[in-house]
This record gives sequence, C-alpha cells and structure tokens, in this order.
Amino acid sequence: MPIPIPANVKLKTKRSRAGLGLFAVEPIKRSSYVIEYVGTVVRGHAVDELANKYLFETSRFRMIDGSARSNIARYINHSCKPNCEAEIVAGRVFLRALRRIEAGEELSYDYGKEYFDMYIKPYGCRCAACAK
Ligand SMILES: [Zn+2]
Repeated sequence: MPIPIPANVKLKTKRSRAGLGLFAVEPIKRSSYVIEYVGTVVRGHAVDELANKYLFETSRFRMIDGSARSNIARYINHSCKPNCEAEIVAGRVFLRALRRIEAGEELSYDYGKEYFDMYIKPYGCRCAACAK
C-alpha cells in the first residue's frame, strides 16, 4: 500500500471539554487522510523506559513518541464515538476521517482499550458521547 498523503486541510488547536483539542477549520471529506501522527521511533527495551501519554504503538516492540509539540496530531482527543481512525501504514500512523467532518468540528479517534483503561477510565471519559 502506498504511503498516504494527508489532505492539506486547515486545522487548529482550541480548548475543548478534554483540554486542548484539534479542530477542523474547513470541511474534511469522508475517508480522506487528515494528518500524520509524527514523532521519534522508539524500539525494543527503550519502550519500557519511556512512559508518556503520547506513545503510539505501531507494533509489539515499536512505538512512535509523539510528545513533541510540533506533532499537531497529539492534540486530537479520544472519543468513544470518533470521527477519525488511526491507520498504520509501513510503520507510520495516519488519522483518517471515518465520515465527512464539518468546519468547526473537533477531531477525535478511539485511543484503544489499553490506553483507555490506563489513562481515561480512572478519571472518567470526557468525550462528547460519554457526556450525554
Ligand atoms: Zn467516552
């Protein structure tokens, strides 16, 4: 599969119910790639020594440390009813729109059970779906 090229859509960070979030400034087409989750590749035992909330597991012993502020995708919050999904292609992580996203909507994806249980569940999920 070729490496996706994210659509060049305007996004901005803004305060949301769960801290800072990433928002669409213009509409995003369904199924289009929105942004790449970028960072330093961390392998093997180094993974155990690093503990931050921005580690994205791309395989059992390989992760992307997306903690740098230049990784705009790190501002995308978790949702139990997300409008994006993370897709791993050739060890890289891309966020893809699950449906059309309107201007002004906050981007979200499901962080997965492991992350949810560790970082979200203890404090209560603050996503829009759970707030209802
Ligand atoms: Zn939720």
